[in-house]
Amino acid sequence: MKIHNLYSPNFDRKKRTKNSIKIIVIHYTGMQSERESKIRLCNPKSKVSSHYLINRTGKVYRLMEDNRIAWHAGKSCWAKYKNLNKNSIGIELENKGHLLGYSNFSQKQLSSLIKICKILIKKYKIKKRNVVGHSDIAPLRKNDPGEKFPWQKLANNRIGFWHHCKPMMLRKHRNINILKKKDKIKYINNLNKIGYCFSSKKKYFLMKIVKAFQRHYRQELINGHPDKECLIITLNLLKNL
Ligand SMILES: [Zn+2]
Repeated sequence: MKIHNLYSPNFDRKKRTKNSIKIIVIHYTGMQSERESKIRLCNPKSKVSSHYLINRTGKVYRLMEDNRIAWHAGKSCWAKYKNLNKNSIGIELENKGHLLGYSNFSQKQLSSLIKICKILIKKYKIKKRNVVGHSDIAPLRKNDPGEKFPWQKLANNRIGFWHHCKPMMLRKHRNINILKKKDKIKYINNLNKIGYCFSSKKKYFLMKIVKAFQRHYRQELINGHPDKECLIITLNLLKNL
């Protein structure tokens, strides 16, 4: 596939080894335009970057080599990994985002993303469960790539982790509260097993993690309340781990 080179200076001086690359993190740019996104990702003053940027027409830019540690994840955690810049590849998708006018990702953009993910997954042997969104690894601070990002479509292309529950069956359990305390604990433990990190059991923090889970796996209703549908999805996901 054709990749266009740009240059961002926003990376650690020390290179990394191929073996340290374990995770793909998907973002949206959250900026007005492609031009603004490029300027920001390449400006030394911004101190942010990613490895790839995909615009709405599906054009792919490489901002640095994969062996560079890009500054895209920030304070973050996933499974046993902490502060994920050193272990991940960051891919930015052009989209104005929740604050400036969140829109569907374009088909061309997604098909380029699928191609690039397939190359990276093969090259670095990235596990299905380690293809994540920025909100999955930093749920307190981030909402991207958000609930319009089609994780299921990626999973249909063997990218990322997905469940095998029937939509009709799931819908029946939507908004049905988990009443038993032991089921609530089970749901939280399941999130933990999937990779979500808990540094605090405070209610506000839990709600943010549940929202991140919903943005990824139950996009029709994002309210931060675990219901039976959420619990069933986690049980099914863990069967496929
Ligand atoms: Zn992001």
